[in-house]
Amino acid sequence: MIPVCEPQLGEKEGVYLAECVRSGWVSSSGRFIEQFEQRWAEYCGRRHGVAVCNGTAALQCAVAALGLAPGNEVIMPSFTIVSCAQAIVACGAVPVLVDADAETWTMDVGLVESKISPRTRAIMPVHIYGHPVDLDPILTLADKHGLAVIEDAAEAHGAQYRTVRDGSEPGWRRCGGFGDMSCFSFYANKIITTGEGGMVLTDDAMLDKRLRSLRNLCFGDEQRFRHEQLGYNFRMTNMQAAIGLAQLERIDEILQRKRRIGAGYAQGLEEVSAISFQSCQPWARSVYWMNGIVIDEKSGFSAADVSNQLRVRGIDTRPFFTGMHDQPALLRLGMFAGESYPVTSRLSRQGLYLPSGSGLTQEQIDTVCNAIGEVFP
Ligand SMILES: *Cc1c(COP(=O)(O)O)cnc(C)c1O
Repeated sequence: MIPVCEPQLGEKEGVYLAECVRSGWVSSSGRFIEQFEQRWAEYCGRRHGVAVCNGTAALQCAVAALGLAPGNEVIMPSFTIVSCAQAIVACGAVPVLVDADAETWTMDVGLVESKISPRTRAIMPVHIYGHPVDLDPILTLADKHGLAVIEDAAEAHGAQYRTVRDGSEPGWRRCGGFGDMSCFSFYANKIITTGEGGMVLTDDAMLDKRLRSLRNLCFGDEQRFRHEQLGYNFRMTNMQAAIGLAQLERIDEILQRKRRIGAGYAQGLEEVSAISFQSCQPWARSVYWMNGIVIDEKSGFSAADVSNQLRVRGIDTRPFFTGMHDQPALLRLGMFAGESYPVTSRLSRQGLYLPSGSGLTQEQIDTVCNAIGEVFP
């Protein structure tokens, strides 16, 4: 079976990890935590990094750091992972959905303003499968309406967005460097991994302080065991950070491999008219975290049909996200009743992603392309 995604761990990861074991720094302090936070923030063009135990926790800390009141609204895409909605709901706020753009599969930024209400406090744009969301219009709206922006960059380590805001020269900047806070995951299938892990980045010293406190149970400054506020134990271990630092040291190579795989599929599947790819925009440099395909409904095949056809040919795939408006757990809370998000629904039904791990060989890519050619002769 050709796997969808496997982490590529090298010798350096083992060397750093062994140092944690040898030195006894296996918990949530140590040199690797500090270095990983600093270097990842720096890589993304940010001042502060706060490492946490996973990407969902990063989102929850970021939303909690805004100090929202119950009933405050946060605008987010309908086509994303449940972590985004989970983080908002866990903080007592209400997720408000925006449908996906048919070309980029990210939040349709033209629909955001119509969702702003007097209760809106923040927008949470999400980069999807390695392709950036169009951030400029979101940042402009946030300024105009006084809203916070939490960028979910958990699928876009190293991706770049060309901003033309401030009327200056267009400039390419890395994802994770925009808005008030940005969140990353370092789960095993992400561009770089710590096994489980996440981070919140910010330029704001106050937010940095609040995030550090929230991640560590809001221990008191003067009297340690006297808590002004309730937080979480979302700490990352030095061992996870050790792996993360080694991964970061070779992110260029990983990104190069990812982009080569993306180009390989584009070329190998050029002639298959029944499928379409996420279309990379002129203002975006995707990192091709996952190579998704959407199957034309007129072909008569759903994503599940194609996935089964590929499985019998030894190729593993994954379905796309199910829209947030189709989540029983959220509907049961009385959310999104009667709302429809047609692009998201079509993507969920017709989309799947192909093997995309950075260890994939050209031979494996050819095998996948040939198999798809058999399904759509
Ligand atoms: C993976 C992911 C997360 C959650 O990260 P975990 O580390 O799995 O909790 C959040 N947002 C997006 C867009 C993701 O892809």
